Parts: sequence; structure tokens; C-alpha cells
Amino acid sequence: MNPIERILTHFPLMILDGGMATELENYGCKLNDRLWSAKILIENPELIKKVHLDYFEAGADCAITASYQATVEGYRERGLSEDEAIGLIKKSVQIAIKARDEFWRIEENQYGRPEPIVAASVGPYGAFLADGSEYRGDYLLSENELVAFHRNRIRILVEAGADILACETIPCHKEAKAITRVLKEFPQVYAWISFSAQDDFHISSGEKMADCAKWLAEEKQVAAIGINCSAPNYIDSLIKEIKNKTSKPIIVYPNSGEEYDASSKQWNEITSNQQFTTSTQRWYEAGARIIGGCCRTTPEDIKAINDWARK
Ligand SMILES: [Zn+2]
Repeated sequence: MNPIERILTHFPLMILDGGMATELENYGCKLNDRLWSAKILIENPELIKKVHLDYFEAGADCAITASYQATVEGYRERGLSEDEAIGLIKKSVQIAIKARDEFWRIEENQYGRPEPIVAASVGPYGAFLADGSEYRGDYLLSENELVAFHRNRIRILVEAGADILACETIPCHKEAKAITRVLKEFPQVYAWISFSAQDDFHISSGEKMADCAKWLAEEKQVAAIGINCSAPNYIDSLIKEIKNKTSKPIIVYPNSGEEYDASSKQWNEITSNQQFTTSTQRWYEAGARIIGGCCRTTPEDIKAINDWARK
């Protein structure tokens, strides 16, 4: 049984965590950097552990590691050696495992919930480029080149002991295919594949969500299919699109609904926490079984899911 199946056999819903970067910023980190939260793995790994603990305490059944933008290539561009880079990527998993074990050791934390799992974030190629192409999917790389890009980091994350791989913010079918090819080199490993979307029916590349879900439905090592880092108002329709094509669990963890205004460099608050919470409940009713938040969501948003789902 894969880690998601194991949780969903005993619980109706698996609760994910929320934004890592958002919380790091709330703690005063400056993430205006190509490496984003991967930079904090170098500077302040204890703080990353603290954020994982905050999310477990809020009710998360899963910590997504801070490896989204952590790649050997990215760290080497920053002047680190290959060994140092590998060490940092491993560290992202080790920190989350440490936080989980510390949390789960306390007996009162174990009531009415599953032991949380650690999902190693496998960010898209576009996150390494840091040019926004993870929301467009207009990569110049071939599928084979994407396989080569993902292979190294996936091996490191698997060896570090992650329970599952969180392949997230994937903008195009080609990259999802490349990742499933790498997965076959690690036959004992499971992953979820989560796309970024451009509207109610299409992933960022413009390809149909339904077509991607249909294709992934046949992949044995894919434990869940869904959407993250996209506007919450696309999610209801996208759940339907996925549900029509597969019986695999559906995972959704969109952004809070705030929009980033590039000219003012600020987030516009166009939605309240209350709206996000109500939406999460509706997504569950629509068939999503793994729910959390991506950018601009906080432990409060996760606690709100826990409050309707487990109280
Ligand atoms: Zn996001």
C-alpha cells in the first residue's frame, strides 16, 4: 500500500501543509532570491523545521520539504560544491523527518489522526530556471533532457528517506511524462503529480487537465493526481475534469487567492481566510481527498481545514 492509500484507508481526508515560503517570510526571512526557500536550507535550517512543526500542530498529515527550488545545478551556480549541494537537498528531507518524529513522539498529538508523512518536493524545471516558465510550460528542453534534469535530485531525495515524492507545479504533460520515466528507475517509490493550471480546464501549457489525468491514471507509481499553486477559483472544475478520468485520489493545494501585483511588488488581498476554508470543504465534497494550500496560505488555513474535517 502506498503512503497516501494507507492514510485514506483509515481517514476520509489527508490534510497537507500550506506555504513554506510564506511562513518563512512571516518569520522575517528575505526570499527575494533565485533559490527562494532553498536559500534558507543554507542559512537557517532550524527555522524550516519550526515551520514544519507549525503545520503539524495546525493539523497537517504531510510535510512538503523545502527542496522545491533546491537543485545541484542551482546551488553550484551559487558557488557550492556538488557534495555541499547534495548535502543540502538531503537535509531538506532530514529536517522534515526530524520535525515529524519530534511531533509524533508526544502522545497527545496522536489522537484522531494518522502519523504524518514526509513528501519530498520535486519542483519543476521552471523553478530551477526561476523565469516563471513553471506557469507556462514553454520549456526548450526535450523529454529526455527533462528526465536527466529530474533523475539526480529524485535519487538524492529518495536516498534521504522521503515517504513519497511531491512532484508539484508541473506546467506541461511532457514534464509529467519525464518524471514518471524517472520513477520507473525507483520501482519502490511513489509520487503525486500536481500541475499548475491556467483556467478551469487546462494546465499551464494549455493542454487539457482531463488528458493528463487520463494518461497518469495508468501509472502505477502515481499515488495521486491534482493541482497546486493556481487560483482557487479554477479548482472546482478541475476536480471534475480529473474525476472523470481516474479513480486515483485527487490532490488540490491552490494558492490563497491573493494576486501578486508585479508593479507594486505586493500581494492584493482579494479573498479572506474564511473564503479559502469554505472552498476547501467544497473541494472535499467534489471529490478531492488530499487538500492543503500553496503560496500565501498559512498554518491558520490548515487549522481551519482540520477544524471542519476532524472536529
Ligand atoms: Zn505556490
